[in-house]
Amino acid sequence: MNVRDTEVISGLLLKAGFKLVEKPDNADIVILNTCSVRQHAEDVVWSEIGVHKNGKIIGLVGCMAQNYKEQAFQRAPNGNFVVGPSDIAKIPHILKDLLKDKGILERKIWETDGLNRPEEIYHTGYYNDKNHAHLVISEGCSNFCAYCVVPYVRGPERHRRFTDIIKEAEQALDKGINKITLLGQNVNSYKSENADFKELLKRMNAMKDLKEFSFLTSHPKDTDVKLFDAMASLDKLSKWLHLPLQSASDRILKSMKRNYTKDYFLDLTKEYRKIVKGGTLTTDVIVGFPGEAEKDFQETFDLLKKIRFDAAYIFKYSPRPGTEADRTPDDVPQKEKERRHRLILDQQRSLAKKNAKS
Ligand code: SAH
Ligand code: SF4
Repeated sequence: MNVRDTEVISGLLLKAGFKLVEKPDNADIVILNTCSVRQHAEDVVWSEIGVHKNGKIIGLVGCMAQNYKEQAFQRAPNGNFVVGPSDIAKIPHILKDLLKDKGILERKIWETDGLNRPEEIYHTGYYNDKNHAHLVISEGCSNFCAYCVVPYVRGPERHRRFTDIIKEAEQALDKGINKITLLGQNVNSYKSENADFKELLKRMNAMKDLKEFSFLTSHPKDTDVKLFDAMASLDKLSKWLHLPLQSASDRILKSMKRNYTKDYFLDLTKEYRKIVKGGTLTTDVIVGFPGEAEKDFQETFDLLKKIRFDAAYIFKYSPRPGTEADRTPDDVPQKEKERRHRLILDQQRSLAKKNAKS
């Protein structure tokens, strides 16, 4: 999502007459598009932002901007503007405004009240990759998983209009792009006035110049056999499903507010393997969520072995201020989180080898 947002910002700035440079050192303006999902991602930005001084205009954009709002200037006094994910369309105007005042780099501008992105921002025609386009089909998230900051920083789930999505896809294809990834925090819950996610997939598959397309990320609660049938039958659709498990302990899943159980998830993956023959299956897991006992961890460890994902991203739980889980103590010691993280990583490495062999 951030890769696409950065591209959108680049497109808007190019259209407004700015130029991209290869290295930040050569830039007059540096914009950091940021993530707040884990503390580590934020720490990297706080140290990175301090590096850029020397009279450059510095912008903090994306989820961290939304998270800290104008208070970001306290942590990063050399920053000039702070813009949340829903306000990125305003960046060219902010820059023009700042440049009018050249020499007054002390000026601070923040935009974090936006509710909706204007549709035009997706149609600048700028893509980083000449073969591959990322296409946002829904913004935000309304799931409020207990550990997650996304609904707070990216706002409630909003679906783009079906016709707008198709128009953007056609524009990308006209530019010679032949691969598209559909994006949403909860991509498979997509719905518009007259179509659902499977209909969108069918429509995409019918695009003449499209060679291959995929989607990211699916929530298990919105994933069903019909989606697998579509994946099996649509020839241009990648046989790849990223289905975040997070935990295989029903108790932890419940406190994470994930709305599914271990058995439901396991059955889903069995159906996937049966219907989408030879399909790739990947996942996300969080270790050390508050209250995760050894027994809960073991369930996750065992299920990962049983399902044998082709790849898994393993995260150590990181408390996010303002989220529901942050109201309970972060009671799994860091050392223990690291041990669980390592155990799963090691297991995953050997499973991946077995998968590759088979
Ligand atoms: N909308 C997607 C992506 C969410 S963020 C989804 O629901 O899967 C990507 C991953 O980051 C999540 O799947 C989760 O595994 C991880 N994550 C989110 N918040 C986290 C936190 N507070 N601590 C550790 N990992 C987290
Ligand atoms: Fe976060 Fe859950 Fe939404 Fe994914 S589905 S973005 S984990 S709240």
